[in-house]
Amino acid sequence: MKNKNTVLILGITSILILISVQVFIILGVWNQKNELFAIRYTILSQEALYNIWKGRSTDGFDTVRLLLDQYSEQSVKDLHTINDKKELADRKKDILAYFTKVVNQEQDLSGLLSQYFESRGFDKNFNYKIIINSVEMIDVDTVVVYQKEGFSNHKSPDRGRRNPPPDISSSSILVRGGTQLEGNNYRFNFDYYIDFSNKQKVILKETSASLGWSTLSILLVGIMFMITYRNLMEERRLSNLKTDFINNMTHELKTPLSTITVAGKTLEMPQIRNDDAKILETAKLIGKQSVHLNQLINMILEISMWERTQFQLDKKTVDIEEVMNDVVDSFKSGGGNNAVIYKKYNFSGAKLDLDVVYFTTLLNNLLSNAVKYSDKQPVIDIEGFTQNNNICIKVSDNGIGINKFDQKHIFDKFYRASTGNIHKFKGLGLGLYYVKKIAEAHGGDVSVNSKPGKGSTFTVTLPDIS
Ligand code: ADP
Repeated sequence: MKNKNTVLILGITSILILISVQVFIILGVWNQKNELFAIRYTILSQEALYNIWKGRSTDGFDTVRLLLDQYSEQSVKDLHTINDKKELADRKKDILAYFTKVVNQEQDLSGLLSQYFESRGFDKNFNYKIIINSVEMIDVDTVVVYQKEGFSNHKSPDRGRRNPPPDISSSSILVRGGTQLEGNNYRFNFDYYIDFSNKQKVILKETSASLGWSTLSILLVGIMFMITYRNLMEERRLSNLKTDFINNMTHELKTPLSTITVAGKTLEMPQIRNDDAKILETAKLIGKQSVHLNQLINMILEISMWERTQFQLDKKTVDIEEVMNDVVDSFKSGGGNNAVIYKKYNFSGAKLDLDVVYFTTLLNNLLSNAVKYSDKQPVIDIEGFTQNNNICIKVSDNGIGINKFDQKHIFDKFYRASTGNIHKFKGLGLGLYYVKKIAEAHGGDVSVNSKPGKGSTFTVTLPDIS
């Protein structure tokens, strides 16, 4: 059990490490693609600005210029006539709001850029944002209306800047940094950013191949691990079954052997040697136990023979009802005489190609199990009928029953249900294995239906030839 957990933990840990490495690699690829995307669109935007200027002789802010020219003429006069400080501050605020509105609503650059991107086969779905750095009104002298913190008109335009300011999405691309627009009575400076709404989708599309391969490799490793783990567990189960079998076999062999040893010792006693009746009784006992011992050894030999060769069936066409009656009668007169057996046959004279010896083993195994796995007076119902060109034989008992898990395994070689003391019911876990093998060798099958505490029904189907 400890080993099983270690294998499981090791396997899951390796898969988790693999997943982490893959996630790490994918994140790296993702970041790289992100950077590339920004570089690609920065270069493309610069190229677009140049071509728009060359082709259309516009930078996309012509309407803005016109409107601001008209607006500034009056505004600059206002600024010179207002004396009240608060009123002046309010007026400046209004001017800034107007500039912000006009530059955002009336610019044509976004439309021109998106046309350009589309014509070059690139993504054209972007949002833009314009950040005003400064607004100055110019008359005889210059009045500063607004100046963003840290901004200076004397600094060179911030074109190479990569990282957008905090009020802008980090994935935004700076297309025009420190753009200066001037009219007769104003001068203002702004940054123009674009941000692609489809960016994640575009990158996802580009990384989908590596993402797909990584997922596939993780899945493959997972599946391979599961298969290996299952095989390992199956091997362990078989090896456990074999160990159980050896333990049971040893136990089974010891019983007749110790009886024979005791009988031998008894025969050595002088008082026994003079008693013919006792000698005969002991000799019979030795004989019986030897037969039993022989049967057990034959069984072991048979297992290895069945393993190596296919069944050699000696089939004869028989009347199934007759054969069944013979087997059940001899079973009753043998070990099963304490069981109540009910028979209900409806074979309508069906004929079967059968190896009678093997079939006897099959039915005997089912009957002796029905008696063996019972904690009260065994009552066995044997039903026989034909169905869809098959012969069905049902053997039902009122025994201890079999739980769902064991039902799946009872036909496996060496399998014994694990509930309770394994030696309470003697056996080697081979009876039902033989039943299944024999049924299959005849082209049929066997199944079980059982409820713990209520009893079990075994159904054997064999192909009918009549
Ligand atoms: P064995 O009887 O030697 O253990 P079998 O192959 O005949 O081996 O049976 C396998 C297991 O199936 C048994 O250990 C027992 O737990 C269960 N079993 C078989 N027949 C019955 C039955 N009629 N009622 C309850 N349990 C049964």
